[in-house]
Amino acid sequence: MAEQEYDWASLGIDVTKPSIARAYDVVLKGKDNFEVDRAFVDQIVKIIPELYDVAAYNREILGRGVRYLAGEVGLRQFLDLGSGLPTVRNTHQVAQEVAADARVAYVDNDPIVLAHGRALLAENDRTTVVTADLREPEKVLADADVRRLIDFDRPVAVMLVGILHHLHDEEGPQRIVETLLDAVPSGSHLFVTHFCASSEEARAAEEQYLALLGTGRFRTPEEITAYFGGLELLEPGVVPLPLWRPDGEVPAELTVGQRLMYGGIARKP
Ligand code: SAM
Repeated sequence: MAEQEYDWASLGIDVTKPSIARAYDVVLKGKDNFEVDRAFVDQIVKIIPELYDVAAYNREILGRGVRYLAGEVGLRQFLDLGSGLPTVRNTHQVAQEVAADARVAYVDNDPIVLAHGRALLAENDRTTVVTADLREPEKVLADADVRRLIDFDRPVAVMLVGILHHLHDEEGPQRIVETLLDAVPSGSHLFVTHFCASSEEARAAEEQYLALLGTGRFRTPEEITAYFGGLELLEPGVVPLPLWRPDGEVPAELTVGQRLMYGGIARKP
């Protein structure tokens, strides 16, 4: 997108600083990003040359996870938090391919997501895009649009895919997860993917994320697993993304990029 083309500020979009949603759009090879976002990604690519592949691994596990939750578990409600800009194979497309009646509420705090999400709204009446901040989970849960699509008396897939690492420790990510899980009944599932402090390169990338983007906490496998406390973790547990129920063969030894994010799914008993 061209910075000069539009009065972005009137939409609440700051083109002078990189945004998480737009930087992620860069690595997914989308078009909804600005020079400042591309410059940020270039800095990270110097440390993690496989960064574009990492974004692909994250989108792939999102697809496998949603297919599993809609198919094998039979969930029909998806609360996708930190959903990002609409891109190929979104949660509603994967879920509604399995079950046409699946409902998806997308929540993100970046105004660009809502601006582009309007096309999703037009696509079908079982999908909505809400602008809200995950750091205020009570507000997300009380949002009228979320409640129009999600019945909190029936099991929900709570998706925190590629987002919890953008919350600082002092913002209480664990409490936020617990608040969300308290609001959903038994049989609901939690789906998390997260940057992992799995290599020297990951540590160096964390420094750059914090310096240039302001967020990006690479947690240990133990810290990531702790988000699932009190839940029944599904096989194979919290693992590097390519190892979570892969569709095909995976190499015996994983690269730095293949270990950069960990993820898993668990069931609320
Ligand atoms: N979930 C998608 C995926 O994994 O493909 C997108 C992940 S993207 C890396 C993270 C998203 O979280 C961005 O779109 C960003 O705007 C959003 N985000 C960051 N902090 C947030 C917050 N406090 N509340 C809501 N959304 C947030």
